[in-house]
Amino acid sequence: MKNIYSNIFSFNKKTLNKSVASLKKGNVVGLPTETVYGLAGNAYSKKAVKKIYSMKKRPKKNPLIVHYLNHTDADKDVILNNDFYRLYKIFCPGPITFVLKKKNKSKIQSLVAANLDSLAIRFPSHTTTRSVLKRLNFPLAMPSANMASGISPVNAYDVANEFKKKIELVINGGDSKIGLESTVISLIDKPQILRPGVIGLKTIDKFLKVKIIKTNSSIRSPGMMKKHYSPGIPVILNQKSAKENCALITFGKRYKDRPNFFNLSKNSDLKEAASNLYKTFRKIKNQGYKKIHVVKIPNKDIGIAINDRLKRASN
Ligand code: AMP
Ligand code: MG
Repeated sequence: MKNIYSNIFSFNKKTLNKSVASLKKGNVVGLPTETVYGLAGNAYSKKAVKKIYSMKKRPKKNPLIVHYLNHTDADKDVILNNDFYRLYKIFCPGPITFVLKKKNKSKIQSLVAANLDSLAIRFPSHTTTRSVLKRLNFPLAMPSANMASGISPVNAYDVANEFKKKIELVINGGDSKIGLESTVISLIDKPQILRPGVIGLKTIDKFLKVKIIKTNSSIRSPGMMKKHYSPGIPVILNQKSAKENCALITFGKRYKDRPNFFNLSKNSDLKEAASNLYKTFRKIKNQGYKKIHVVKIPNKDIGIAINDRLKRASN
């Protein structure tokens, strides 16, 4: 049988060299991170950045997150302030993205930040992507490796299925441990959460007072579209049941095993549920269901991030 995944490679010295060479040429590659898989390209290269937007069919007004090895590298492009250093010490490398003021002399392509004067930066902890970053003298613009407004990929096969032969290389780094996108926090003025993630407001607030935003965060975060993270079929929230031809996403042990029931976590573990969310969306879609019902998910801790994604998926 022909291997349809001929563009997926396991991580070793040879494939590390191959991805580094590809990135240096301005090409894009699929890389694993602890949150979701990314579509990576040189953030200083117009060719690479344009390619990322066009492959994803991403609206140009939705800025990309730039990934660095450490704060010394990030210091070349953004103004790092005290709030940043406080959170960096505790949470980095890890699943948190900081929006900061871009430096005038930064070489970041203006398209990366959708022509804003701010920039979103992150320090991924996945060892594979860190090994790649160590070999480069430029940072990586790296949005999730999926078509715009769809579900983020949580393993190398998801990435290959999204882009087929259009992506030359995806490094297989196993399942993304977290399975949901990073927390995005703006540190330009008073700290504000722009996108909830596994590192919650309560946790951050222990180290840094966070301003709660009541207005629509899309003002500060142009990419936070109302419709996003969508599996491409209707998603209906806060349901208790579903007919046989409709999938029901459940949570907790009170739900029986039925062919159309998909449990995010029998142990009512919100972390486990988060890591299963996108996997479950893809599974349901692949099984041909035309509609998804979802039971109520507790709106605490990482449940807040799960509900944020579910709400957008249902729009
Ligand atoms: P994704 O790369 O798909 O995980 O999405 C990145 C998200 O980061 C976008 O949806 C934006 O909401 C946010 N973001 C990126 N750059 C900025 C920025 N300069 N200002 C505010 N939010 C940003
Ligand atoms: Mg995305």
